Amino acid sequence: MKKTLLVMLALVILVGFAFGAKYVVGTSADFPPFESVENGVFVGFDIDLIKAIAEEMGFEVEIRDMSFDSLIAALVSGNLDIVISGMTITDEREEVVSFSKPYWTADQSVVVREDSEMSVTVLFGKHNIGVQTGTTGDIWVEENLVETKILTGDFKRYDTYVLAMTDLVNRNVDAIVLDAPVAESFAEVRPVKIVAIIKTYEDYGIAVNKANKELLELINEGISRLEESGKLNELNLKHF
Ligand code: GLN
Repeated sequence: MKKTLLVMLALVILVGFAFGAKYVVGTSADFPPFESVENGVFVGFDIDLIKAIAEEMGFEVEIRDMSFDSLIAALVSGNLDIVISGMTITDEREEVVSFSKPYWTADQSVVVREDSEMSVTVLFGKHNIGVQTGTTGDIWVEENLVETKILTGDFKRYDTYVLAMTDLVNRNVDAIVLDAPVAESFAEVRPVKIVAIIKTYEDYGIAVNKANKELLELINEGISRLEESGKLNELNLKHF
């Protein structure tokens, strides 16, 4: 009982500390349905989620679009307070930033052109594969296919998935490796299809600077409240 009271008191202080504060949130808005730009406005599951957490916990957010590869550095240098970008919680990233509790689980997938006859074998031999720089898809291809020399064609890294998808459609690469939910989203609007799922069981988390423990607690509390109230489920139904 005493413990519950202490936890509640700590929360009251925490919420008081953040009340009205404005946090700068970084995202790479090329990752539908988690984040993208529609008519000049940021939309997607992650955008709604961070706004709902902010509303629940009494702070404000300002969203900034950056390349995925520069998000962690911007968090470490203090240019960003929060990163929400379908970012997988990995050991390497956890060495430099702190992650909230997981809010999503995803696997990698292999995407080819709609008219392609290639299957998962596109990953082997002299084919050209594209990824987004610094993503878990990038690391997976590097470690499993390039270093092992299973893949001997070109390995191309792109700043955004929009560029990678365009190059795929234009026949400059044979396949792209990216998170499955996002691949599905691209397959709805571009002439591409998923031919394989790579079970990587990745958890997405919201990242903050390691020194910002109060903010991390606020975010975690916000996620818990949204889980309990059913709001998280509502967002899920809205975007998937
Ligand atoms: N989940 C993947 C990662 O964390 C891809 C994220 C993204 O491209 N936005 O690397």
